[in-house]
Parts: sequence; structure tokens; C-alpha cells
Amino acid sequence: MNMLLVRSGDTALLIDAGVMFPEPELFGVDLVIPDLGALDAYGVTISALILTHGHEDHIGAIAHVLDRISGPIYGSPFTLALVGPKLEEHGIDAGERLKPVKPRDEVTIGPLRIEFLRVTHSMPDCLALALHTPAGVIIHTGDFKIDQTPMDGEATDLHRLAELGASGVLALLSDSTNADRPGYSGSERDVIAGFEEVFANAGGMIVVTAFASSVYRHQIICDLADQFDRKVAFVGRGMQHTSQIALDLGALKVKSRLLIRDSEIRDYHAEDVVCLCTGSQGEPMAALPRIAIDDHRHIKLAAEDVVVFSARIIPGNEKAVARVMNHVARRGADIVADGQKHIHVSGHGSEEELKLVISLVRPRYFVPIHGEYRQLSRHARMATLVHPRTTVLMLEDGDVLRFDASGARVVDKVPAGRVLIDGTRSGEIADEVLRDRKHLAGDGLVVVVVAISSQTGILEQPPELITRGLAVDARHADVLREAPDVLTRGIESAPREERTDPGLLKERIRLELQRLFKKRVGRRPLILPVVMEV
Ligand SMILES: [Zn+2]
Ligand SMILES: [Zn+2]
Repeated sequence: MNMLLVRSGDTALLIDAGVMFPEPELFGVDLVIPDLGALDAYGVTISALILTHGHEDHIGAIAHVLDRISGPIYGSPFTLALVGPKLEEHGIDAGERLKPVKPRDEVTIGPLRIEFLRVTHSMPDCLALALHTPAGVIIHTGDFKIDQTPMDGEATDLHRLAELGASGVLALLSDSTNADRPGYSGSERDVIAGFEEVFANAGGMIVVTAFASSVYRHQIICDLADQFDRKVAFVGRGMQHTSQIALDLGALKVKSRLLIRDSEIRDYHAEDVVCLCTGSQGEPMAALPRIAIDDHRHIKLAAEDVVVFSARIIPGNEKAVARVMNHVARRGADIVADGQKHIHVSGHGSEEELKLVISLVRPRYFVPIHGEYRQLSRHARMATLVHPRTTVLMLEDGDVLRFDASGARVVDKVPAGRVLIDGTRSGEIADEVLRDRKHLAGDGLVVVVVAISSQTGILEQPPELITRGLAVDARHADVLREAPDVLTRGIESAPREERTDPGLLKERIRLELQRLFKKRVGRRPLILPVVMEV
């Protein structure tokens, strides 16, 4: 949910507009975005949105905040290529408002001059910002690491950071995500050797799951596919979408004879194919989790195949990922995860990289950003060690930091809440969604109790539905009468592994009922499946 507002006089800019994915307790909530309500009280109009890079936690909320921004959206070509379709999904044609910028470009907005600087991260075309303000220069690193041998040859612009440092920097706002890791995060190229081993030894198909945005990782896999004579298939919507953008922009370079569609995989021998799949976080409907339970239209795993998990597991997803691994193991395929082979590097700088930036920039004030409080505080300690004359300012969400002739200090705290988004209605719903009476009265709550044998996956009795706050009308009554049968059919048609896995089964129940209610009454009640294993 990254977002920073910078204001000088009457001019205000927003830097990034990210989302957070909801914790599982937020039933029926698809996205969490920052609440900009506080700005109304300030009477600020925002003249531009500046994007550091294209990760969801930096661009995911744009469609929801755009109507508060009067001017253009600046970002690198790759970032904007990801933003465009996202806005179109919401029926917004940003067209002329999307302004591509290159490293070392400058744009002036009122009294603010913004300079864009190249940084390396886990995706192409990432930028840091130098904000030239009347109070001095403020550097915002965005997400970064210092990859000295980046896949695309575009290294972090340390020269410019040093120049700015030499001429005096008022404040450095720096990425703290990996502040608790010692040493260096390492180059993206460090994973090549590990993948080379996988390619050299795999007897069957190679299936790699990674983030759809990890274009450098995709490049490494495509290069090895070329070297080892395998075809490459991008599998899963996000993966196909992002790889197409990357191919179109030349951020991903692959010989076209190497690329095949997922529907063509079965025309090739398993040992001639590598698949790049979505689902590295165990998302039930993504490609790899479907493949793992043998429920994918085009891909079947066999004993000679190998599945590589090449992504960090986002905290909270450990169980879901472990479940996918168990299912993959049931298919007999081999699993390679981080720790067994070096097949993942972080896109955020570790301690030594963070220190290097502080020592180049030598800021008067240091503000650690992006990370949990413990990481911010470690980063702060590093800053005072590297540059003892710096003053550390520890900020939390909503803090207002003011720079003026007498220095810098926190002057105010505005409410910086979150807004829960129910994506199917593309509207906002208030916080504490389960207690929101309006929402419950409108769409209601359906609790489904399913008793199922954990051994055979056979229903012990018809599903039971308990509803609250559902409008009592004939259409609802019909749907409720039919629902147990629809559910029974839906569950019985699922593969046994899905039926015996409570997590997947709940997802199936949710989808079946959502579809039914959507189709028949045009509503989306919160659906709370309860699976009793007997
Ligand atoms: Zn990022
Ligand atoms: Zn980030």
C-alpha cells in the first residue's frame, strides 16, 4: 500500500499508489488500498502521480485514486505498459495522461523539479526520484537493490546519487525491506547456475513458478531453454499478460521459435518443454496449484517432471504453498525450492547495499521507508553508523513531515486508514467489512456447512446453508432451495484431491455459490464455507 504525498506551496504530487492483498479474515474483500479521505480536509489538489515501478504494491490502487489526481501519470515505459490495461479494466482510458519518462529525465511541476534515476530491482525499468524542492533535494529510492551485473545492463545510477550527495541532499527516503539481511542480496544472474543444474538433470518437463512480473527470471529461463533445446510456454493469465508486454517492449528477448502456447504443450515430449507458471503463492485458481491437483486443461505432471518454486513466499502464504508442494509430490514430480538450490534472489538491497547508498548520498535527514517497523529501525541504526551527522526521522503511516528553514520535524498525523475493495463491484466498502450492516443488508452472508469424508472426499450429507441479512424475496428463496444440489454436483465433479483438501474445497464452494448468486440474483453475498471433515 505504498503511497507518499509531497506538497510544496499549492503543488502536490503523489508518489506511487499501491495495494495490499487482504488477510484471509477479510472475507469478500479483494483488495486493500490507502484511504485518501484525509486529503479532503487538507484541501489539496494533486497535480501528478509519479510511479517508481510496476509492482502491485506501488501501482495497484491507481484506478481507485485517479479521480483525485488532476494531471499526468509519470513512469517508465514498462511501468506505464502495466498501468494502461489495469485502467482499461476499470473503463478508464488514461491515454494522453500517461507520460513515459527515462532515467535522467526531468519534469517540473510548480515549484518541484523531479529527476528520474535508474535503479535495479526484480523487474525492468525501475526508477528512484530526486525531488528538487525549494527546501532542498529529497531522494526517494523506490524499491531497489544494487545489481552490478543486471540482466538488461541497466545498473543503478550510483554516479548520479554520488553527485547529488556531493552537492548536498536534504533527505533520503530509502527502501528498508531487506534491512535485516546482512551482506549483499546478489545479482539476478546468481540464479543461473542453479537453474542450469535443473535443466541439465531434468528427465521430463520443467515447470517453474515465479511472479509474473519477474521478467529477468523469465529471461534466464528462456535463455536456458534455448541452450537446452526446450520450448517455453507461459501459463496462467498474469504470466501470459506480463510476458506479452515484456516481449512487445523488448524487455524480454526470446526467439519466437521457442515460444509455444499452453494448449500446444501436449504436442511435445515432456523433456522438450519448460513452463513458466503463475501460482508461486499457492493461489488456488492460479496455474501451478491447478496443475498440482491434476486439474489443468493442458498440463499433466508425471514422475520425471520437476517443479521449481522460484519466488519468495509472502508471509501468510506459507501454508498454501506447502499444500501445493504436497500435491506436486503426490503427482510424483520432483520439487526444487529455494534453499535446495540457489534459484531465487531478492529484488531489495541488503545491509551493505543500503549502507552504500547512505554513504553516497550523505543526507541531512534520513527517513527509512518500505518495510515493517523492525526493518525501519535497523535501517535507521545503519544510517547513524554510516553517516553520524544525519538525523533519523522515524515515520509511521499518516505522519506529516515538514521541511522548512528551521529543519525537519513531524508536525501532524492524519488518519491514514485503508479502504477495502470488493473487486466484483469495483466500489469501495467501509472498514470492518463483516460488521458493515449496509453491505450485509444488501448482499447478505451465507454460511455453508459441508460434511465430507477426509479419506474419500465423499459428501456425508447434503450441504447446509445458513443465511443472514439476505433480502427475503422469491428469487433468493429459489436459489437457496437449489443451492445444496448445485453444490453437491459441483463438489462431486471436482477431483478427489480437491475434495479432500479443505483449503481448495472452500475455494470451490465459494466460487460455485458466488456464480449461482451472481447469475440468479445479481448479488454477491459474503460466502463463508465451513468444512467439517468426518
Ligand atoms: Zn517492487
Ligand atoms: Zn515494493
